[in-house]
Amino acid sequence: MRYISTRGSAPVLSFEEAMLTGLARDGGLYVPETIPTLSAEQIAAMQGQSYEEVAFTVMRPFIGDTFTDEEFRAIIARAYEGFGHAARAPMVQLAPNHFLLELFHGPTLAFKDFAMQLIGRMFQAALGRKGERVTIVGATSGDTGSAAIEAFKGLDNVDVFILYPHGRVSDVQRRQMTTSAESNVHALAIDGDFDDCQARLKDMFNDFDFRDTVRLAGVNSINWGRVLAQVVYYFTAATSLGAPLREVSFTVPTGNFGDIFAGYIAKRMGLPIADLVVATNQNDILHRCLSGQGYHKGSVTPSISPSMDIQVSSNFERALFDAYDRDAGAVAQLMDELGQGGFDVSQGAMQALQDIYRSGRVSEEETTATIADRRRTTGELLCPHSAVGVKVADDLRDPATPMVTLATAHPAKFPDAVEAATGIRPGLPPRMADLFDREERFTRLPNDLDALKAHIKGNLSA
Ligand SMILES: *Cc1c(COP(=O)(O)O)cnc(C)c1O
Repeated sequence: MRYISTRGSAPVLSFEEAMLTGLARDGGLYVPETIPTLSAEQIAAMQGQSYEEVAFTVMRPFIGDTFTDEEFRAIIARAYEGFGHAARAPMVQLAPNHFLLELFHGPTLAFKDFAMQLIGRMFQAALGRKGERVTIVGATSGDTGSAAIEAFKGLDNVDVFILYPHGRVSDVQRRQMTTSAESNVHALAIDGDFDDCQARLKDMFNDFDFRDTVRLAGVNSINWGRVLAQVVYYFTAATSLGAPLREVSFTVPTGNFGDIFAGYIAKRMGLPIADLVVATNQNDILHRCLSGQGYHKGSVTPSISPSMDIQVSSNFERALFDAYDRDAGAVAQLMDELGQGGFDVSQGAMQALQDIYRSGRVSEEETTATIADRRRTTGELLCPHSAVGVKVADDLRDPATPMVTLATAHPAKFPDAVEAATGIRPGLPPRMADLFDREERFTRLPNDLDALKAHIKGNLSA
C-alpha cells in the first residue's frame, strides 16, 4: 500500500513513512493510492466480534508490511486495554432508530484517544526497531493535545510539544495537558486562537531545515494513521445495527474533518452508509461550503463546543482531492487561493461532495437546549459537541434508517456548559478524580514562529 500527497509533488511513501511524517513536504496530506474494499461476508463476520478483532480486519490492508500480523494484533490490544469500557465504543439509544456512539471511554475522555493510543504504540514500535527518535509537535483546540500527551508521555524515543490557545481550552482539557510529570512532555500556551496554533505548526513543517534538524513528526488529525484508526468504530457500530444487510447513517460533530472523513473511508471500503452528516457549531465554514457558498475563511467565534472552533478544516483537503477526481494540481491551486482568504468549489466537485455529505449548523442556544432536552427525555448527559451532532441528526435524519450520532467527548470534560443547561455538574470518572490536585507545568509563548522554534530546539530531552 502506497501513500500519495493531495498536492502531487511530495515523495510517495509507505504506511510507516507516512505515519512518521504527518504533513507531506509539498504542504499536502497523504492518502492511500487506492482504497481497499471488504466483502459483504467479511463485514458480516464482524457482528459479535470484539472491537480489537474488527480493528485488525479494517486496518490491516492499509499498513502494508510495516508490522507483521502478530505485531499489529499486539499493538491494537495494548492501545485499547486502558479504556474504561469493555466494548470500547458502546452505543446507547436516544429515540426510535437514533443511537449515540460513546467514544469517550479512553484515558482522556474524548474520541481522539482511539487514534492517539494506537499511533503512540505504532510510533514506539517503528522507532524502537530503527533506533531513531522524533520530535512530535501538535496543535490542539483541547482534546488532541491531551490525547497526544497521554499516548506519548514517558516514551524514550520522542519529545512531545503541544501548542494550545491560551485561555481558550476548558480547565479539564488544560489540566490534562499541563499536569503530566514526564520530562518529554512540553505544554505550550500560545497567545492566539486554534487557527494560529495550527498555522504555526504548518510553518514549522514547511521550514525544512528546522523540520530535519529536530526530526519533526506530526500527530494532528492530518496524520493518516489517525484517520485510519477512526474508521474502525463506523464498522463496529453499523454491524451491530444490522450492516451489511441494512444501511446505517452517521452524524459527526466536525471541526478538522478527520472523524467524518474516516466515515467516508468506511463507506468506500464497502460499509453501507446511507447519509454522512457533518454537524458544525456557529463556526460553520464546512456547512456553508457544503451548502454551495464556497470555502471562505471567517474569524473564529469562541463557542461552548471549543474543539470545533475552527475556520480552516485541515482534512477537508482530502475530501476535495477525491471530489476533484484526485487532480492534485487543482487542489494545490485551491490551497493557494485559501491563503488569500478562500475559494469557490467547481460545480462537478460540489456535486461529488453533496453526493456523500449532508450538513447542518447549530447555534449556542440550540446546543444548550439539546443538552437539556436529552437529559429530560432520555436521562443522558451530552457534552456540547455531541449535542451539536444530536441536534443536526434530529433535523436531518430519515426515521426509517438507523442514525448513529458520534458522542465525541465525556460530559465531564465540559462541565460548565452541561451544568448551565441541566443544573447538573457531571463528575470525572474515579480514575481521574485527582486531576484538580495535580501541579500544572506549561510555558506561555507569543504567536511567533522564531520564538517557537527556539523554544523547541532548546528543550529537547536528547
Ligand atoms: C476534535 C474534536 C471534534 C472534531 O473532530 P474533527 O476530527 O476535528 O472533525 C469534535 N468533538 C470533540 C470533543 C473533539 O475533541
